[in-house]
Amino acid sequence: MDPDIVSSLLTHGLARLKSEFSALPPAHSEGGVRSEDIPAMAAVLDETAHRLGNNYPYFHPLYAGQMLKPPHPIARAAYAMASWLNPNNHALDGGRASSAMEIEAIREIAAMFGWQEHLGHLTSGGTFANLEALWVAGQLAPGKTILASDQAHYTHSRISAVLKLPFRGVPTDRQGRMDFNALERALSGGDIGTVVVTLGTTALGAVDPLGQILALRDRYGFRVHVDAAYGGYFRLASNLEPDAARAFARISDADSIVVDPHKHGLQPYGCGCILFRDPAIGRFYKHDSPYTYFTSSELHLGEISLECSRAGASAVALWATQRLLPLIQGGDFSEGLDRSIQVARTLYAKIASDPRFIPGPEPQLDILTWAVHAPTLNESSRLAQHVFDRAAGQDLHLALVQLPVAFFQSPTDPRFWPSAPGDSQVTCLRSVLMKPEHLTWTDEIWNRLDRAAHSFSSL
Ligand SMILES: *Cc1c(COP(=O)(O)O)cnc(C)c1O
Repeated sequence: MDPDIVSSLLTHGLARLKSEFSALPPAHSEGGVRSEDIPAMAAVLDETAHRLGNNYPYFHPLYAGQMLKPPHPIARAAYAMASWLNPNNHALDGGRASSAMEIEAIREIAAMFGWQEHLGHLTSGGTFANLEALWVAGQLAPGKTILASDQAHYTHSRISAVLKLPFRGVPTDRQGRMDFNALERALSGGDIGTVVVTLGTTALGAVDPLGQILALRDRYGFRVHVDAAYGGYFRLASNLEPDAARAFARISDADSIVVDPHKHGLQPYGCGCILFRDPAIGRFYKHDSPYTYFTSSELHLGEISLECSRAGASAVALWATQRLLPLIQGGDFSEGLDRSIQVARTLYAKIASDPRFIPGPEPQLDILTWAVHAPTLNESSRLAQHVFDRAAGQDLHLALVQLPVAFFQSPTDPRFWPSAPGDSQVTCLRSVLMKPEHLTWTDEIWNRLDRAAHSFSSL
């Protein structure tokens, strides 16, 4: 953690921000706080910090479990500084400067995906961004079916239900990618409005074959929505394996894209992003609000967003982060993504060559899954929980995930539960290696995992 860096950045930034408003007559309006209130506030903050101590140490490289990446210090400082003004990016009255910063930051994200023209904005997260994408899809093709792979984010079926659009899952291959033949079968039945293509699934980091799916779009005519909430920034990585590289290279041919700056983009939570290739879809958002549109005839973000109030501070933090770390290939930010891929590959090789473990699909991004070798699925699941607990006891925090056993079965290796039905579930271990610092901790992570699995190495 870097509280000193952030607080010194913030002290300087806030002094400058206050000077921007120095022409106003002084008014002590910090919520009516008096100096005699400060000790009580300090005590409450102390208690708050103590309560927060009962979290996993997400900021530390030995936390290698779920998708949790610490915000960059510049993002934390900019967010905290903006909260002093607390702009609302719904409308220009509420966030004039922060709306301009949002539009600039969005333009840079769109450019990362190869789009000059676009319509887009920030959202509270990936779920809401996907909701907007599928809502627009439903406006364009009312009543038509949404398809997404069985490994797509669970919210797609729920969002479709909210929007009253039919939804169907498409099976995946043994790497967790949408199965091309199954997709074609579903399409040939007709009535498909949109295919959700996931570039970086949440459980496995699998990358659907976007190029092949786009070829089907030419034949069958459907909308392609890319859910890259997790994986979108890997567009900038330089060491993707060939299938993933090919898919990310085609992302600019999608109709809409979701990416979460609060996943790999170094932002605090509350920062998703939806982009549409065709700016004309803005017509669907048209609405009348008597409260908001007074000071300007310029575009308000509230006119192209389903949500009303949104934190301007999210846009400010994102803008500042991209100012420091531009979204370019070969920059410091993209090198961090390369490092994450490298860590996942290194640990995958160690797991794959260790007889105690059964590796899941070879990682396409920076997410690893592996099962524990045992005669039955139940025993394997039990041992996975055991390794998880023992690793946590040594401050190595992994995650657990339930996956179809098909991801671990090997056509050539009879040890891997060949007779279990492929869709039976096994609990396995999962590690999201999304911090660039994980690279210098690879050996330490492996050593602790090795010790956590030591007690049953005789199996
Ligand atoms: C995380 C994730 C989502 C949901 O995003 P939230 O920001 O958690 O709402 C959707 N799709 C994918 C692929 C994700 O990884």
